Amino acid sequence: MTYPKTERTLVIIKPDGIQRTLIGEIIKRYERVGIKLVAIKMLLPTEEKVEKHYLLDPSWKKNVGEKSIASYEKKGITPPSTDPIAVGNMVVEKLKKYFTCGPVIAMVWEGAHVVEVVRKITGGTEPRSTDVGTIRGDFVLDSYIMADTDDRAIRNLIHASGTVDESAAEIALWFTPNEIIEYSLIQEQILYDVNIDGVLE
Ligand code: GDP
Ligand code: MG
Repeated sequence: MTYPKTERTLVIIKPDGIQRTLIGEIIKRYERVGIKLVAIKMLLPTEEKVEKHYLLDPSWKKNVGEKSIASYEKKGITPPSTDPIAVGNMVVEKLKKYFTCGPVIAMVWEGAHVVEVVRKITGGTEPRSTDVGTIRGDFVLDSYIMADTDDRAIRNLIHASGTVDESAAEIALWFTPNEIIEYSLIQEQILYDVNIDGVLE
């Protein structure tokens, strides 16, 4: 049995994260857990790129539509449609507007269980209800009700891949292989080596 210490995940600091001047804070939250930054760039995404990104997983649109319909129903509001695909399409349109309103920072992080660990540090989709101690829970208060009332995407600072399969496809969309750097961190010896030796002189 081995463990995936070279697992990778895609993280994007969305335009609101840049505008809130949280770049350093967000990177610090991931860095301090022991994972390794292997690629980073600032860019202005196109609408085409955003659409491609969210449609990489063929089930995402239906899932996000179902999640959205459930949140409308929970509030006792009639959803704009009962068809999850139609509601998913509406979310895609809102995301295109959100992601293209300013620069974003795309990053690849590497380490054991990195997809799961990054999602845990990031927090859930709705900042209002996600845990204190997560980035979304600590730095933003947006909610389904605010976003739906104003007909916009939920502003939650960050995108992070949901699964290992999703991360591979997303990394390939945002980075070329030569933009990802393979290197060692001294701390990896402490994090991953079987024996901690060579510490005492
Ligand atoms: P994530 O993986 O937690 O980012 O969530 P999803 O992949 O399900 O959704 C992608 C992004 O779409 C979220 O981060 C939000 O910005 C936005 N979003 C998701 N669901 C809804 C919704 O029901 N309403 C609105 N307005 N935006 C949503
Ligand atoms: Mg997602």
